[in-house]
Amino acid sequence: MNAPLPRPLIDRFNRRISYLRLSVTDRCDLRCSYCIPQGFKDFEEPEHWLTFDEIERVVRLFGLLGVGRVRLTGGEPLLRKDLAQLAGRLSVLPGIEDLSLSTNATQLDRHATALHAAGVKRLNISLDSLKRDCVTRVSGRDSLPAVMAGLDAAQAAGFAPIKLNMVVMQGVNDGEIEAMAAFCLARGFTLRLIEAMPMGDTGRNAHYLPLDGVRDQLVARFGLIPQALEMGGGPARYWQLPDGSGNIGFITPISQHFCATCNRVRLAVDGTLYLCLGQEEKLALRPLLRGGASDTELIAALRDAIELKPERHEFREQPGKIIRIMAHTGG
Ligand code: SAM
Repeated sequence: MNAPLPRPLIDRFNRRISYLRLSVTDRCDLRCSYCIPQGFKDFEEPEHWLTFDEIERVVRLFGLLGVGRVRLTGGEPLLRKDLAQLAGRLSVLPGIEDLSLSTNATQLDRHATALHAAGVKRLNISLDSLKRDCVTRVSGRDSLPAVMAGLDAAQAAGFAPIKLNMVVMQGVNDGEIEAMAAFCLARGFTLRLIEAMPMGDTGRNAHYLPLDGVRDQLVARFGLIPQALEMGGGPARYWQLPDGSGNIGFITPISQHFCATCNRVRLAVDGTLYLCLGQEEKLALRPLLRGGASDTELIAALRDAIELKPERHEFREQPGKIIRIMAHTGG
């Protein structure tokens, strides 16, 4: 007879944890104005990075505990050598039903086919503008041509859905939202507009714009209607074209937070498990992994950590609280 499955992870607020965001590096080839500061040097030492064996072990345990969705992220995950090999190891683990990737797509044209073959089926791609000079200003590099090649390669490789994440910044790219929406609807991408979060000084100085006005503008322009079915199991609220042929998501952590339905935890590249993007509660897993902890001890530690998951972030009430940048936590 098979052993009974362990109890799922449920926190103090009755939220079931079903989603792990896994940062495979805190490094990035871009310097987006709201994320890694120019000249930033405080990256994790390679000896602190969880190895593929350690990552696989942690994901296997999460899979046993009912965490069926895993997203590879960073930093820029494609900078981690042999990422497709890791993806192939994770996608076949028991209980892992959905392996996805967040990327800036600057190197995606070289990796798309291998990642898809390794079991990554869904992609989120960051792109804040379709204007080359604006992308260069925001991302710190003339990256638009490479990203466009990455988008083409992603579609050719068969990823579905492909979501484009655009951080909306007042006076920076808010004039380009309609063009981005039209581009995504025409190409079959799902656009997701994101409110800038006050993570680190870069995040706090990101020209935050609440998205309600933007949503009203897009509803009027494209005749969008609220989408009845939840999509993606995440925080985005989706609106769709009347004939259902396309949709746009809005992620509003500041103007309308969604903490009551938060189902996720984040594992940083150094093995720190963060229980909330906007709070400090965490568990250092690396010392346990490297100190000989058994699977039973690790599972107990994960359960204890879930007990620490805060009710909500305080980005509005305490915008100065979170010093770490998104790339450190695993955005
Ligand atoms: N490099 C990958 C990418 O570009 O998708 C994965 C990591 S990146 C940190 C993940 C997402 O976080 C990106 O969509 C990025 O735009 C977003 N992000 C970074 N800092 C942010 C902030 N302060 N507020 C809102 N979103 C942020």
